[in-house]
Amino acid sequence: MRRLLTLTTLLAGVPLAAPVCAEQVFSFQRAAGQLPKTVVPVSYGINISTDIDNLKLTGQETIQVDVRTPTEDVTLNQAGLHLAGAVLDNGVKATITQDDAAETATLHFPAKVSKGAHTLVITYSGPILKTPNGIYVDDYTAPSGETKRMLVTQFEVADARRMFPGWDEPAFKATFQLNVTLPKEAVAVSNMPVTQSTPEGTSQKRVSFATTPRMSTYLLALVAGDMKSVQGQADGTPLAVYAPSGLEEQGEYALHASEKILPYYNNYFGVKYPLPQMDMVAIPGNYQAGAMENWGLLTYIDNVLLFDPPNSTPRTRELIYEVVAHEMAHQWSGDLVTMGWWDNIWLNEGFASWM
Ligand SMILES: [Zn+2]
Repeated sequence: MRRLLTLTTLLAGVPLAAPVCAEQVFSFQRAAGQLPKTVVPVSYGINISTDIDNLKLTGQETIQVDVRTPTEDVTLNQAGLHLAGAVLDNGVKATITQDDAAETATLHFPAKVSKGAHTLVITYSGPILKTPNGIYVDDYTAPSGETKRMLVTQFEVADARRMFPGWDEPAFKATFQLNVTLPKEAVAVSNMPVTQSTPEGTSQKRVSFATTPRMSTYLLALVAGDMKSVQGQADGTPLAVYAPSGLEEQGEYALHASEKILPYYNNYFGVKYPLPQMDMVAIPGNYQAGAMENWGLLTYIDNVLLFDPPNSTPRTRELIYEVVAHEMAHQWSGDLVTMGWWDNIWLNEGFASWM
């Protein structure tokens, strides 16, 4: 009683501030964003062919879409790509307009596309960058002294659109099935396990990955190069740390950290880690993000993942544990449950940091 009286007295004595409002429950239609929500992607089948010497990629993707409001225009994101063609349901060709400043492309069809399920096939090409965003190459000095080239992706916040045209906003969740043609000697990893690897010509191979769960575009990832791994498991989930060949043993500490952290999080969140594997990769050098929580393929700049007992300090060991725990927390906070728009990224980051 006294507390209530005290509060009443206090409230009577000060001008009332604006009421505190909880945010509304998420609704896809209300979620902020720049793309129209008339057409929504359901699944992407992405085929890319990479030329890492000439820094070019060509792609063809098949997107299953759900048309929610009949429309003649389908607008999606692209950045730096050239869309060569877009065909709906095996026949209807679109006229394509690109707005490079807005990072979009609009596919204009001769008649309204009806409500419901449709298939969109887009062919395109674009650059592979040398700067660490979108799909890019990372040139580094290998332990052998040779200069080597790694193919890396970094999509958060809005650079998935540099690898494939799509609805590159976090609320547009869909499944992804990725197929990549790359040098035959490269080891390639993505969010999901490899399902098939077949030779292409004399110097390349085509690697296919299993279909992801529904997720946001910014969490898709691909890394390929001269890598080796150390492997373990926890709670039935295979775990691995990949590093440039010759450095993989330095991934042991992070691997053992992940083996302790995964069962703890499975129990803490009450939802078992839902992907069939969790890989972590050390990117040598050219990786501005520091570390990134791509779902099932966590990427780190090498000095926050690799621990070399004779040369690394105890502080490095602590830092590795901290960063691994942070990125693994994102597998739930951010990846499984994602903010509708970037204004709520604090929730992703705040929770992962708190864990
Ligand atoms: Zn984070």
